[in-house]
Amino acid sequence: MLQDLRKIFQSNIKSLEILYILEGIKPSARIMVKEEEKDKILDFFKEKGLNYTLSDFKVIKQDRDKVYSDKGIKVPIDSEKKGYFFVYVSKDKKLAEKAKNLENENKHKELGILLGYPKCCAEFFEKHFEEESKKQNDFTLSSLKNSDGFQFPFYANIAARHFDLALLNHFPCSFNCKDSIELAKKHLAVIEKYDKEAAGIIKGMLEGAIVYTEGNGVFLLRRAELEHNRLYYKGIMASKNNQLYESLKNADYIEIINKNRLRLDDLEIKNVGMMLFF
Ligand SMILES: [Zn+2]
Repeated sequence: MLQDLRKIFQSNIKSLEILYILEGIKPSARIMVKEEEKDKILDFFKEKGLNYTLSDFKVIKQDRDKVYSDKGIKVPIDSEKKGYFFVYVSKDKKLAEKAKNLENENKHKELGILLGYPKCCAEFFEKHFEEESKKQNDFTLSSLKNSDGFQFPFYANIAARHFDLALLNHFPCSFNCKDSIELAKKHLAVIEKYDKEAAGIIKGMLEGAIVYTEGNGVFLLRRAELEHNRLYYKGIMASKNNQLYESLKNADYIEIINKNRLRLDDLEIKNVGMMLFF
């Protein structure tokens, strides 16, 4: 099942969202679909008896080199530039249409709730929308700011979406948000039902440390262990190959000063997000 979905959607995260819809644990979803792949995906929805509506615009992604970009520019549907459509999909025809309308009306909170996100997180999104939409539409550091400490349950690891891994499809209001963690547990249970091995891999990848920057890369440190304020790790995945990546790769450990400040060798690094998911 998951394998088939992956063939069509070319992404773990998108495949899982559709699986949650098919399983009836998510009321509706909004996914970005490449123009060239639109027909194939819509055919799949028809075959599965899912209802959908298409956005009245296309989105051209910025940061083309990034695996996961949160930012895009809207262009008319007849633009010659190839882009992405938003597809609103649900078992219920009315919900698919409602999701599209809410998006057009910029009703972020209501849209979030319709997509199955906890109310607290939908409110958090709306509250921070203006400041974040001016930047990269990336709410991760705002979520961290709202969270106590830097150690959180792996269920809430939304930062790993940069590596196409996540159990949540929204930015949690905090990494300790109870409703988000409950939702992620439901999602993991569904994945387990279809593919125990995939569920184990996802869990194993989400359990790790994240060094998060806005613009200088996201780094997933595998098999991380904290001893006092020293973080040891074995293996690293990077969204960017840069100086910070080299430093993280070569260091024996990171010294965590606080959730926004690290020491790497003798260099102090500020304005980053440090998260340890267990
Ligand atoms: Zn929440």
